Amino acid sequence: MTFVSRRMYKNKNTMKIISCSDSGLDCDFISEGKTKKEVMDSAIDHIREKHPTHWDKFKVLPPDQVFEILESSIKEL
Ligand SMILES: [Zn+2]
Repeated sequence: MTFVSRRMYKNKNTMKIISCSDSGLDCDFISEGKTKKEVMDSAIDHIREKHPTHWDKFKVLPPDQVFEILESSIKEL
C-alpha cells in the first residue's frame, strides 16, 4: 500500500480528495469533499462497498489509525 501524503495549502475553500489509485487500488474512483470528514466518510463508504478485501485490512485497525491513514491520503486541490 502506498499512501500519498503530499499536501498543498492554498486557501480554506480547497477541495479535498482521496483517490483510490493513490491508495494502491486499481480503480479510478476519487472521493471529494469540502471537509476532511466528508472526504474520509465518502472514501470509507466506497472502500467498504467496492474493495472489501482492502476494507478487511482497515477494519481490523483501531478507528484512529484508519483515520490517520485516510488523512494522510487526502490531497487538496
Ligand atoms: Zn475504488
